[in-house]
Parts: sequence; structure tokens; C-alpha cells
Amino acid sequence: MNFDFSEEQQAFLKEVQAFLDANDDPEIFDPTRENMAQIVDTPKRRAIMKEMGRQGWLGMTWPKEYDGQEGEGVYEYLLNEELAGRGGPQIGKGVGIIGKTLIAHGSEFLKEEFLPKILNNEVEFAVGYSEPEAGSDAAAMKLKATEVKGGWVLNGQKTWTTSAHFAEWYWVGARTDPDVPKWNGITLFLVPLPTHPDPPFDISGVTVQGIWTMGDERTNDVFFDDVFVPDEYVVGDLNKGFQYISQALDLERFTMFTYSPVKQRLDLLVDHIRSTERDGVPLKDDPLVRARVAHLAAEAEMARVMGLNVVDATVKSEASGGPPPTIEASEYKLYTTEFSKRLANASMDLGGPGTQLRVKTEDAPMEGRAESTYRYTVLDTIGGGTSEVQKNIISRRGLGLPKAF
Ligand SMILES: Cc1cc2nc3c(=O)[nH]c(=O)nc-3n(C[C@H](O)[C@H](O)[C@H](O)COP(=O)(O)OP(=O)(O)OC[C@H]3O[C@@H](n4cnc5c(N)ncnc54)[C@H](O)[C@@H]3O)c2cc1C
Repeated sequence: MNFDFSEEQQAFLKEVQAFLDANDDPEIFDPTRENMAQIVDTPKRRAIMKEMGRQGWLGMTWPKEYDGQEGEGVYEYLLNEELAGRGGPQIGKGVGIIGKTLIAHGSEFLKEEFLPKILNNEVEFAVGYSEPEAGSDAAAMKLKATEVKGGWVLNGQKTWTTSAHFAEWYWVGARTDPDVPKWNGITLFLVPLPTHPDPPFDISGVTVQGIWTMGDERTNDVFFDDVFVPDEYVVGDLNKGFQYISQALDLERFTMFTYSPVKQRLDLLVDHIRSTERDGVPLKDDPLVRARVAHLAAEAEMARVMGLNVVDATVKSEASGGPPPTIEASEYKLYTTEFSKRLANASMDLGGPGTQLRVKTEDAPMEGRAESTYRYTVLDTIGGGTSEVQKNIISRRGLGLPKAF
């Protein structure tokens, strides 16, 4: 397997780097928000993404028919990694999950309504699968959709919906048929959220309540109380929602858990080791410290290459019109997010007592990042499917082992 980027790909990366350097602004790029940086919403962040849309960078892998460029997924990978390493917004949900699913399965009405807005970065989405009794087992979702004349009435609760407090639209799964096996009775809907400036139908029954995570950022509960959703806002075929969700999750597991912030945190730790003494002895001369950080560097390289393996599998699969690669994405997510935790633990240990100081505290070792990543990296092993769920996917679908229960 050849992991080198082509000359064209390297030229694209240089162009992206030059553009981001020219637009460097701490209000747009903030690595201290860790992976949650991708869901921070400010007017400046929306504006820079809009500018990237103008450059044609938001629909690089979309078909030309929908104003995309039919480029390979590696371009999206290069762009997203560069954005993530700087703590910027990313091309995530709109282009990936919602856009790609609408292109494959959406009605002409939904495509016309949403695809141009996604390419121009005029719309933000929140994704609602999880419920209090349906997280790892998303197919158990109960949000009830009852058919009425001209549409559906939604009642129930979602939880852990990231971005629902600022996104305009909700990509939400609901149970449309309770009498069939659970994964065959779910339908996807598009519903405006309370922050929508001009919702096309009444959403007074939608309520959003914040949940603050241990990683400092906000996620949300979302409640539906007799919310009528017209038929035009049903995504694809009735009762096929779970199949669409499963494919989109394969995408999410890769695109939303980037490698470059992990590498950036390893570099911070190595810089700290290079420049710090403990009890008069430079850390860099301590054989135990050296052994530990060398091990971490080897693991980081493993994570990088596993990411490239997903890109390679995606390019091959897209060329044959296939779905996103499931096993490779799960392997990458499992390994990289668990490694992130090991790296955060090591940063706390090797940084010494000052690492308990909070991020942005003056004189804190590693800019206070050890403490924040120690709390934050736990989230990445849960969101997008927990590590145990990834292990189940790898053992069943990758290794052909039987279902555990
Ligand atoms: C920061 C953050 C953001 C999120 N954003 C969103 C979002 O925008 N939209 C959305 O829909 N969801 C979102 N989620 C929810 C996330 O997808 C769920 O938290 C996750 O799927 C786990 O579900 P749960 O929390 O209900 O835990 P549970 O499913 O109840 O799991 C509890 C524990 O049991 C283990 N477990 C469960 N089933 C199995 C099994 N079969 N085999 C072995 N172990 C098992 C799990 O690994 C876990 O350790 C977010 C979560 C977090 C933390």
C-alpha cells in the first residue's frame, strides 16, 4: 500500500495551509477546545467555512450533478485534518452525514432545499439518534412518529444531541412502525430547531435543554411535544432510517475523530520533556520518561497509518460505488480514541503536579492542556459509538465471531 500523497494532493494541502495561515484568528482557531472545537459556533467560524464553500472545498467528493467535484475522499481528509489540528470548524455533518445521505436517498425537494445551502455553509445540523434508553443500541429508539393527514406527529425525547442549541435543522430518527423488528421501523426526519430564524412549519413543541459535559462543551436533551412534520421532510423511504443511520455512522466514526489534534498533543508533551527539569535532572535524560514517550510516539504513528487505511478503503469503496468502510473505521476509532486517553494519562504523569492547572492558566505545563485532555478524551471513546461497540463491530463483522448477546 502506498501512503504517499500525490503531487496534486500535496499542492492542495499547501493551498489549504496558505489560506488558513492568511485567516489565522484565535476566535476561529482554538486547539484548546480539543475535538469539540468542531462544534463551536461563532459568526467568524461560519464565515470562514462559507469562504471555503466558495473555493469549492465543501463538496469535493459530491457528484458534479450536485455541484460537487467528484474528487477522492483523500482531499476531504487533508482539509479536515488541517482544520482539526488548528482547532477550527470542520466539514463534518452537513457535507458528510446529511449531504451524502440526501444525495443517495433524499427526495428532489430535500435535495433542492438543502444541498446548495450545505455547499454554501448556510445551514448547521444537529443529529438525533440517542435517547435515554437507546444509546449503544440506537435501533431501540422510541421517539414516536404517528401518521396523520399530510405528515407525522412526533412525541418523545432525544438526548446527547450536540449542536442542537445553535443548529437550524435536526436530522432525527423516530419510530414509525412499532410492530416490526426494531431496525426496520425507524424513519429519518428533518425538523427545524428553535434557533431556526424562519421555520417552514410550527415547531413550538420542540424544546432544547443543555447538558454540560466533563469536557466543558455543551450537548443537549431535545423534547418533542406533538410536533407535526409534513411528509416532504421525511428522508428517503419510510422505515429505512436505521439503514441510512448505520452507513452515516461509519462516516462519522472516521471524519469526526481526527488524528492531527492527537499528534499536536503528543508534540506538546515532547516539547515539555525536552525543556523541563525535575529535581535538577532534565526529563529528557530520564530513561523511564524516554521509554514511555517513545512508546507513545510509536502508538501515534499507528493511529496515523490506521487513518490512512480508512482513507484508502474509502477511495476504493467509492470507486466501486460501495458504502463507507465499516471495519476500518471502527478499528481506527477504537485505537485512536483509546490511545488519546493513554496519551492524556501520560501527560498528567510526566507533567508533574502543575498539570492539574486548568487550560490557559499562566505558566501551567503544556499550556494547561494535560488537565483538559485528561477530562475531554473520555468523551471521544463514547460519542459516535463506545469502544465496546467498536469491539463488537470488529469481532462480528471483521472476524466473523458470533453475536455476544
Ligand atoms: C460528547 C458526546 C456527544 C454526543 N453527541 C451525540 C449526538 O450529537 N447525537 C446523538 O444521537 N448521540 C450523541 N451522543 C451519544 C452517544 O452516541 C452515546 O452516548 C453512545 O452511543 C453510548 O450510549 P449511552 O450513553 O446510552 O450508553 P449505553 O449504551 O447505555 O452504554 C453504557 C455502557 O455499556 C456498554 N455497552 C452497551 N452495549 C454494549 C454491548 N452490546 N456490548 C458491550 N458493552 C456494551 C457501553 O460501551 C458503555 O460502556 C454523544 C455522546 C457524547 C458523550
